[in-house]
Amino acid sequence: MENREALLLEPGKIQVFPCEMPVIQDDEVLVKMEYCGVCGSDVHYFRFGGIGRRKVTFPYVLGHECTGEVLEIGSKVTNVTVGDKVVMEPGLGCGHCEYCMTGRYNLCEDMKFMATPPYNGAFKKYMAYPARGCFKLPESVSTLEGAMIEPLAVGMHAARRGEVDNSKVVLITGMGCIGLMTLLSCKAMNAQKIIVTDIFQNRLEKALELGADYAINVAETDMLEKLKELTDEKGADVVFETAGRAQTAAQNVFAVRRGGVIVQVGTIADPVPYQFNELGKIEADIRSVFRYRNIFPLAIKLIEKGDIDLKAVDPDIFDFEDVDKAFDTAINRGNEVVKCILKF
Ligand SMILES: [Zn+2]
Ligand SMILES: [Zn+2]
Repeated sequence: MENREALLLEPGKIQVFPCEMPVIQDDEVLVKMEYCGVCGSDVHYFRFGGIGRRKVTFPYVLGHECTGEVLEIGSKVTNVTVGDKVVMEPGLGCGHCEYCMTGRYNLCEDMKFMATPPYNGAFKKYMAYPARGCFKLPESVSTLEGAMIEPLAVGMHAARRGEVDNSKVVLITGMGCIGLMTLLSCKAMNAQKIIVTDIFQNRLEKALELGADYAINVAETDMLEKLKELTDEKGADVVFETAGRAQTAAQNVFAVRRGGVIVQVGTIADPVPYQFNELGKIEADIRSVFRYRNIFPLAIKLIEKGDIDLKAVDPDIFDFEDVDKAFDTAINRGNEVVKCILKF
């Protein structure tokens, strides 16, 4: 077996090279990669070699939305076996700090997360990984669908943070991949009404196809006005900001209803001119999300049951050897494609 990995050599330059076959530890499995998605964070590292204070040391391996087949298991592994198709949860907490012990392992300060410096990612044909981070996919869930569970987990965690249920009118601003995943999650949690926004019509159409009730093109329509009309003048019970734009985040205090909840999902690099006095007047909550926790097993069940249809997301597939083309597409045609996924 010859192993191969995609190395980011410098910002904007990625290439596939032969590499060593990994040797597994007692608690690890050897996974033959089948699919790995290209995340927004991968694109950011690819372009700029870092995100904020986190800088990449070159050469660097990206990728963290991965699925494959188990080829070998260590002597202590009991949760998966040879031949299983698995999805890998890319972040593993230390297992013994205060956060890990209370189930909030996404907040663990010693978390090892794939493709987040200093840890390398999963753009490789064969990879050793701790079995506790591997979840078996049932027969009816493909490894291609499995490769979208990681971004879905972000949306599901956001929906949980927003306490979405069948009484809630939801507004999701931004219909990029995470916006769509939040939409699918709110749908699976039976949101009463889901209103979505974007400036691109094709994205809004995708959202309607995936189950949104109303789509507002904010390039043409006054969002707040339209929202009032759709919510009996009240505003939305839960507002999700997934666009990652300061302007959208600042506006959401006028979109949420009195006593409602705003969930900030998108990453905003710029300072946000926030009118906190407006927030106080309506006693609304702002909640943040950091990745997700305890979601993968539930996500698998919801996909298996048909409550969440990832097939309909319809990603663009690229051969692993064409990894540079996948990044080119994600960067230059990002508005047209929902998700680029590498096939191994
Ligand atoms: Zn991701
Ligand atoms: Zn920990």
